[in-house]
Amino acid sequence: MAKLFEFQGKHWLSLAGLPVPAGQAVDSAVAAGSAARRLYKPAAVKGQVQSGGRSKAGIVRLVNTPAEAEKAAAAILARAVNGLPVRRILVEEKLDIVKEYYCAVVLNSARTARSPMLMFSPDGGVDIESVPENRIWRRNIDPIFGLRPYEAAELCRQAGVPAAETAALAELLVKLAVAYSGYDCQTIEVNPLALTTAGRFYCADCKMDIDNSAVYRQPQFGIKIARDLPGEPTELDKIGWEIEEDDSRGTGFLMSMRQAEKSCGLIGYHPIGGGSAMMGLDALNRVGLKPANYADTSGNPVAAKIYRVAKCVLAQPKIEGYLLGGFMMANQEQWHHAHALVKVLREILPLKPGLPCVLLLCGNREDESLHILREGLKDLMRPDCPGQRIEIYGRDYVTDTEFIGNRLLSLCLEYRRERSAAGKQV
Ligand code: GDP
Ligand code: MN
Repeated sequence: MAKLFEFQGKHWLSLAGLPVPAGQAVDSAVAAGSAARRLYKPAAVKGQVQSGGRSKAGIVRLVNTPAEAEKAAAAILARAVNGLPVRRILVEEKLDIVKEYYCAVVLNSARTARSPMLMFSPDGGVDIESVPENRIWRRNIDPIFGLRPYEAAELCRQAGVPAAETAALAELLVKLAVAYSGYDCQTIEVNPLALTTAGRFYCADCKMDIDNSAVYRQPQFGIKIARDLPGEPTELDKIGWEIEEDDSRGTGFLMSMRQAEKSCGLIGYHPIGGGSAMMGLDALNRVGLKPANYADTSGNPVAAKIYRVAKCVLAQPKIEGYLLGGFMMANQEQWHHAHALVKVLREILPLKPGLPCVLLLCGNREDESLHILREGLKDLMRPDCPGQRIEIYGRDYVTDTEFIGNRLLSLCLEYRRERSAAGKQV
C-alpha cells in the first residue's frame, strides 16, 4: 500500500467534498508560526509521520498563539516516532470537539464479501484496536452501486447516533465511500470524525492508503514507488523499485531495512519467497546477525532479474556477508538463481575478496543448479581466492536454520578478524 501523509489525505478528502479543518503543511518551526498567524485562531500542531498513535507520542499539540505554535513545532520536528523522523508539520485550526466518531472504509477480502466495507464506531478518537468489538459496526459496500444513503443512515441508527446528527453523518459516510473507490484506496480511516460545539463535522485525522496495483491510474498522488515503505525511499528502495517496475517476470523485490549505518554484523540478505524469508531471519537472529535489506526473488523470475537484485544486495557497502536463503523446496526452476549468482559473484567478489557467501538453494532442478554454482565458482573458491568463503548447500539443510546461521557467523567472524588485521573496517 502506498501511504499518504495526513495532510495529503486531507487535501484529497477535501476535494472529494469532505469537510477538513483549514490548515497548511510546513517544514520548519518558523513557517509553523507564520501558518498559525495566518489562521488567526488557536491551532492544532501535528507532526506528519506515517504511524498511528501520534498524540500518545506527543506530536499532536494544541496551542493558542503563533509563538506557541512555533515552539511546539520545533519540539515536534526534533522527534522521531517508531524510528521515523518528523519532517513536516500540519498546522490547522483547532476544533472545539464535543464528540469523536470512528469511520473507515477497508477491503473485506473474505470469500463471502470481496468488497469494500464500512467500519464505524461512536467511540472514536482512540485506536480502533482498543474499542470493544460490540462497539464497532460493519457493513459491506456493494462494489458496483456503492454505499447507499439509506444504508449509511441505517448503520448510524444501529450504532446509536442521535437522530439530529444522522443526516449529516450519513452523507459524510457516503462521500467517504465514494472517495475510497474514486481514489483506488486500500483503506481510508478518519479517526476522529469530530463533531464540534458549533454542530459541524470535520475529518480531524486521515489515514489513506492507495492500492499498490492502482497507483498507475492515480498520477495526481505523485507516488513514485508503489509499495509499502516505512518512510521516505532510500537509494536502495528506488533501485529495487526500478528492477520490478517494468518487469513482471516473477518477483524481484528489494528494499532497505534502514539498519543503523555503523552496526556490525549486517548481512546482505537474499531470501527466496516469503516463508523462506522468515526462516532466513530466524537463521540470522539465532546468531546475532542482522539483515541490511529485505529481498525476494520468487515466482520464477528470470536470471537477469535475479542478477540485478543479487548485485544490489551484494553491493551494499557495510555488509559482512551474503545469505542466499532458499529455505524451501521451491517449485521454480532454480537454475536461474544459479546462473545469476555465478555471474554476480564473479563480478563482485574480486572487489570484496573473502566476503562470506552462504548459498542455500533447493527445489526444482536442484542438482543441476548446485552443479552450475560449483562449476561456475570453482576457481574462485580456492584458498586465497576472492570466493574462498563461498559455501553451497542444498536440500539437506533446507530447514536447518541453526546450521546455516552458524556457518554464516563463523565465516563472518573470520572475515572480520582478517579485515581488522589488515587495518580495514567493514
Ligand atoms: P493520532 O494520535 O495519530 O491518531 O492523531 P489525531 O490527529 O487523531 O489526534 C489525536 C487526538 O487529538 C484526537 O482524537 C483528538 O482528541 C485530538 N485532536 C486532534 N486535533 C484536534 C483539534 O483540532 N482540536 C481538539 N480539541 N482536539 C484535537
Ligand atoms: Mn487519529
